Amino acid sequence: SENGQAGKPAKTRDIRKVAVIGAGVMGAGIAAQVANAGIETLLLDIVPEGADDRSAIAKGAIAKLEKAEPAAFMAKRNARLVVPGNIEDDLEKLAACDWIIEAVVERLDVKQALYARIDAARAPGTPVSSNTSTIPLGDLTRGLPDGFRRDFLITHFFNPPRYMRLLEVVAGPETDPASLARVSAFADLKLGKTVVPCKDTPGFIANRLGTYWLQAAVIEALDLGLSVEEADAVMGRPFGFPKTGVFGLLDLVGLDLMPHVQGSLKRALPADDPFHAVLRDVPLIEEMIRTGYTGRKGKGGFYRLN
Ligand code: NAD
Repeated sequence: SENGQAGKPAKTRDIRKVAVIGAGVMGAGIAAQVANAGIETLLLDIVPEGADDRSAIAKGAIAKLEKAEPAAFMAKRNARLVVPGNIEDDLEKLAACDWIIEAVVERLDVKQALYARIDAARAPGTPVSSNTSTIPLGDLTRGLPDGFRRDFLITHFFNPPRYMRLLEVVAGPETDPASLARVSAFADLKLGKTVVPCKDTPGFIANRLGTYWLQAAVIEALDLGLSVEEADAVMGRPFGFPKTGVFGLLDLVGLDLMPHVQGSLKRALPADDPFHAVLRDVPLIEEMIRTGYTGRKGKGGFYRLN
């Protein structure tokens, strides 16, 4: 693409229009938050097979947020700032966007194929960022044009984006400091995020530490024969989780995510890393996942659903 050529002037204008690609849990939530900052946001997903409405996924995601979570949009008009679409019909609209956020499924092949299309459609210099939780930046940009690599970074939001203040930002060795500064300033000033620059390491900072203590808490509680209530009485309020406790937090995050995050850290860390001590499978959690007790999104979890 044109964007791959060196020497193109970088765009310097403000971020006035944002695109979010992937209208899942994270993408829809991120789009809502950007809209709450008064910014028009394009929300794109794939065209669902056999659907009459080619933008049904993005439309459904916005409707779901409006209905189920009134707090997602601070005002009705903010919901209207999110413009639904799909990546087949609306890709050329990316040319008018000042920041493109990718929040599609956690698959390297899917993300890379999408980046090539984004690169062809975006205006030169437009920052593109991924919400990946586990894929290293170097893998995401491998084989893509230099221009793309210059404007690419990871912006790792947390679920749910409107409550979670933390934004981890990862720049690669080729990332233009101007792109990094532009996105970071926007996230700080317009989205109210605490922007933490991270190295391109497995789990970045929060998931690395978070996985450690969630795993350690479950393993210890089981070894000590504590009930969920007993464990959370100790590890809830004192550790700053007054409402959920550790086990309630696992219910919220979804138990099925644990083996996934644990597995990716296990594979990524050197064999002698002390972290491996808590990165073991927990049969109880595996059993709960197998029987549908994945937490709030399933039949229930460590706590019953009321
Ligand atoms: P999700 O499964 O809820 O949503 C993914 C969406 O991407 C789906 O709507 C799917 O149709 C769409 N999609 C798939 N391929 C696409 C393509 N080629 N173009 C456009 N849309 C496409 O996933 P999620 O939980 O929102 O996660 C999205 C990303 O955010 C992943 O990279 C994940 O690792 C990361 N993440 C997730 C969480 C979390 O707690 N769920 C937290 C932080 C980061």
